[in-house]
Amino acid sequence: SREIRLASRPSGWPIPENFTLAETEVPAPGEGQVLVRNLFMSVDPYMRGRMNDVKSYVPPFAIGKPLDGGAVGEVVASRASGFAAGDFVLHGLGWREYTVLGADRATKVEELPGVPLSAYLGVLGMPALTAYVGLLDIAGFQEGDAVFVSGAAGAVGGLVGQIARLRGASRVVGSAGSAEKVAYLVDELGFDAAFNYRDGRVREQLAEAAPDGIDVYFDNVGGDHLEAAIGQLKPYGRVAMCGAISVYNATEPVPGPRNLGLAVGKRLTLRGFIVGDHYDRLPDMIAEVGAWLQEGRLTFTETVVDGLENAPRAFIDMLRGANTGKMVVRLAP
Ligand code: NDP
Repeated sequence: SREIRLASRPSGWPIPENFTLAETEVPAPGEGQVLVRNLFMSVDPYMRGRMNDVKSYVPPFAIGKPLDGGAVGEVVASRASGFAAGDFVLHGLGWREYTVLGADRATKVEELPGVPLSAYLGVLGMPALTAYVGLLDIAGFQEGDAVFVSGAAGAVGGLVGQIARLRGASRVVGSAGSAEKVAYLVDELGFDAAFNYRDGRVREQLAEAAPDGIDVYFDNVGGDHLEAAIGQLKPYGRVAMCGAISVYNATEPVPGPRNLGLAVGKRLTLRGFIVGDHYDRLPDMIAEVGAWLQEGRLTFTETVVDGLENAPRAFIDMLRGANTGKMVVRLAP
């Protein structure tokens, strides 16, 4: 079996040398444990934060130890009641080909017709719950709201826009980093308008795409996107502060929006959240998003990279925007 370990901590952008590929023995399951062969693993933006030696809402990765994160695998041996060889499980020990887990740390998942198991890392998993909770509970989305989402062609953003559309938004606007992604948002995900943030100032492009203003901003990016959104929000507008990927590789603290003072007169709400606090909403999300998926009213895209050895590259490429939809690594055919 093989695993990816943290070799060193990045300063600024991660590089392949921050990771090493190591050979390990396939572990044997103890009492109450299952042995899992991983089929897919997730690479997510939050993992960049875990490469730093700072305490956050998740502990940092340790140098010389394997990284971890969301994965879906097949049970190959079980010494836990309720689990049998051939079961598929979702768990938190990615970045390795085989792993042993306590049964309490594995969630059984079913293979659904026409949906790959990797969906549990995206459209039926953590990113979808992030979109669902952030839009509906944190930003308090209401039918008729005009919504702007950044990082719109990514795993979370693509679902935010579609959930808003399906829940009756008056207008859904997205931003992304290429002309192809902009076309994807409008043509495939049903956004009303989208723009490429590399084409010009976000402030001006947003004003053009949402001339009547926005009620909700779902922030995946931070920086000039957040500033532009504050400028375009209507009175009593709400911001779900989900992420700030534009600053994850910054080596110095980045200044906040220069127009934050507008929040007072506009009576804005800016509210951060961490999806891990909201798993009570998972059944609601699965029911609603799952139904839209089956009815063909909501779609999802994955960018799939093959092979554990390519996981560091997939992670770095995701941070640079190589993915459309969820970036996943396939570890076994
Ligand atoms: P994505 O699938 O959206 O992948 C990351 C994307 O970020 C890239 O594809 C790239 O797209 C975009 N990006 C990179 N650099 C920049 C930049 N400087 N400016 C604008 N866009 C940039 O990842 P996820 O959907 O998994 O995550 C999206 C956001 O949600 C992240 O900020 C993440 O940290 C956050 N998150 C927060 C959670 C929470 O609990 N609060 C849970 C899960 C995710 P492009 O080509 O458009 O630049």
